Amino acid sequence: MFYHIILTDDCNLCCSYCRGKSFEVYEETDGELITIDPELPAELSISLPALYHFLSMDPDAVLTFYGGEPLMRSDLVHEILRDAPVNRYMLQTNGTLLDHIEPADLSRFETILVSIDGPEWLTDANRGTGTYRTVVDNISNLCESGYHGELIARMTVNEKTDIYDAVTFLSDNDDFRFSSIHWQIDANFANDFKSRHFEEWVERSYNPGISMLVRYWLSCMKSEGKVLRWYPFLDPMDDLLSNRPSRLRCGAGYANYSIMTDGNIAACPVMVGMKDYYLGHIASSVPAQLPELPVRGRCTECEILDFCGGRCLYSTITRPWTEDQSSVLCRTITHLRECLTGALPEVTRLMTEGTINPESFLHTKFNGCEIIP
Ligand code: SF4
Ligand code: SF4
Repeated sequence: MFYHIILTDDCNLCCSYCRGKSFEVYEETDGELITIDPELPAELSISLPALYHFLSMDPDAVLTFYGGEPLMRSDLVHEILRDAPVNRYMLQTNGTLLDHIEPADLSRFETILVSIDGPEWLTDANRGTGTYRTVVDNISNLCESGYHGELIARMTVNEKTDIYDAVTFLSDNDDFRFSSIHWQIDANFANDFKSRHFEEWVERSYNPGISMLVRYWLSCMKSEGKVLRWYPFLDPMDDLLSNRPSRLRCGAGYANYSIMTDGNIAACPVMVGMKDYYLGHIASSVPAQLPELPVRGRCTECEILDFCGGRCLYSTITRPWTEDQSSVLCRTITHLRECLTGALPEVTRLMTEGTINPESFLHTKFNGCEIIP
């Protein structure tokens, strides 16, 4: 099982689509009234032996450090890496504090997801002036220090983003070398649709950009025999090649659980304090017996559910966007599916003739990539 552990709510950045949104005032949504636990501690406040006991019951535990910014608590990262009965670790970080961590600790992570949105102007517009340069310096040093794990660029995209330019910039850049790229659209996480130009951007920019990116992805397979590890393409194409339906691709609520700062267990790391949806507690739960929390609402009757998986469990519960607004977002998923199914015969042909290796599509599921943007 995969677990996120929230070390702290604190963060040294205030990104416009994350902490920055907490300063905006939005109308009430159509979704359920969600009660947030006001008592939830800001810092991890559990007994670490109790955490280790819980994790010891799962021989396949994979633990991902999460926040806030988890490296604000590098002391805890070090202690848990040293003492927990876990063999596999991952880290989701904004990348600005990577230079505060011992190289020996960093080498323990099989995967590090670093937030970066594309070129300098775009990353800094979303994340604050100087963020891009700090992150790029840190990942360059990380690679020079011999880090051998998977280094994933984790982009958040919005109306400022030209998706083709941003992804190709990160994919083909002499200043750094990410192993993989993932992006998620900042959509249906807050009741902000009316203040945005989302629909226009989807039709004029994002969907055409995805068409171009899929063509670029295919062209690299043909010319170099290389399958670029772009998660929104890689994971669904892997399933299409095997004709395999997918559940919620991030795994929240059935393969991926999140440990809150007070030890409660939620389905996903964004469901912080949503106590009505907690699924257990480290002191009393057994990993193999954690209940599932399935996606709900319109997704359950969607004709492309087997491809999409429901995109985001959190959104299906909180429903920040109305049905009509959500359907605009779903058009990006329909479009992604059309592009990938359109590319499928060519990918199959390249595989059959040996231009690309089927193993190029192998990847770790539930590694923090939310897959369907
Ligand atoms: S396309 Fe939209 S409605 Fe369909 S499963 Fe995905 S998120 Fe749900
Ligand atoms: S996609 Fe949604 S449900 Fe999955 S981890 Fe992200 S916020 Fe949670």
